[in-house]
Amino acid sequence: MHDIRKIIHIDMDAFYASVEQRDNHELKGKPVIVGGDPQSRGVVAACSYEARKFGIHSAMPCATAYKRCPHAAFIRPRFDVYKAVSLLIREIFLDYTDLVEPLSLDEAFLDVTINNKGISSATQIAQQIRREIFKKTEGLTASAGVSFNKFLAKVASDVNKPNGITVITPGQAPFFIDQLPIRKFFGVGKVTEERMLNLGIKNGADLKKVSLENLIHYFGKTGSYYYNIAHGRDSRPVQPNRERKSYGKETTLNTDIDDTNQMLDILGEIARKVIEGLRREDRQGLTLTLKLKYYDFQSVTRSVTFPEPISDLKLIMENLKILLANTEAGDKKVRLLGISVSNFLGVQKNTDGWVQLPLPFGIEG
Ligand SMILES: [Mg+2]
Repeated sequence: MHDIRKIIHIDMDAFYASVEQRDNHELKGKPVIVGGDPQSRGVVAACSYEARKFGIHSAMPCATAYKRCPHAAFIRPRFDVYKAVSLLIREIFLDYTDLVEPLSLDEAFLDVTINNKGISSATQIAQQIRREIFKKTEGLTASAGVSFNKFLAKVASDVNKPNGITVITPGQAPFFIDQLPIRKFFGVGKVTEERMLNLGIKNGADLKKVSLENLIHYFGKTGSYYYNIAHGRDSRPVQPNRERKSYGKETTLNTDIDDTNQMLDILGEIARKVIEGLRREDRQGLTLTLKLKYYDFQSVTRSVTFPEPISDLKLIMENLKILLANTEAGDKKVRLLGISVSNFLGVQKNTDGWVQLPLPFGIEG
């Protein structure tokens, strides 16, 4: 039994919206939409279950959400509060195991095969964690999925949402996968779903019938991932220290613009925020990326890599100008602008304040 892992996926229910309902009693039981103003061009960051009944979901333009439910409460996100709650729940996880892999503020994988409390039942651990979350966050609920790999645990947490738990044992996995609609497979987005449906793959049972060769032919490298999960196999470990790979900010404009000088002004504002954020997180990156979305929602990125970490606003702006000139911005109207910095140096501050730099030439020791 040693090689069977015990993986839990915990996912807070309608997280931002639930926090808002917890902190403002007038919002309880009502459609709540966290995001921009209904008049803005922002998107829905989260919405309460009451709002979902109107067909509202996250990433939907706020204006659309407003049309569907004009009487909903539109609330600006309070990320500092969400972060504080996120830290609180992470502490609960870490009580049980060091193998915690956060996927976002409100979601994490835990490997509890071996755990600090010596509890052999992963289901029992998941239930205890859900109860502790409810108590320590003063009423927020989480859903849990329990299984023997990440894919199944993640899919399971969605089955009995909100405030539920689903366990998938090795014996139940084949049946569970067979009836699972293809869009529910972790990693299958809208585009892939459409391609799968065109190939006649509607659910796990259909996916299982396709050979590995054909899946690789249709989906490239990801094909073998689909093949494996269709057969209930996913050996990816829970990675506790998965570091952030890039830091960036983006903004959706109030109106589409075609004036590149105006774009550079906005990029200047964003660059200042990115530099500030990098400083706060003590990160130094070598690659600068410009992201933009044209009026027709097509997005492009352009990058440049420097020999030394970038933190100088002037240098960043000079390069953004060149990157921007390398796009169709201006000829085409632009609706979103963003900047990110990646390719971080492995700099970590020691407790005594010294900064440890990586070896410069990739020397292995
Ligand atoms: Mg969630």
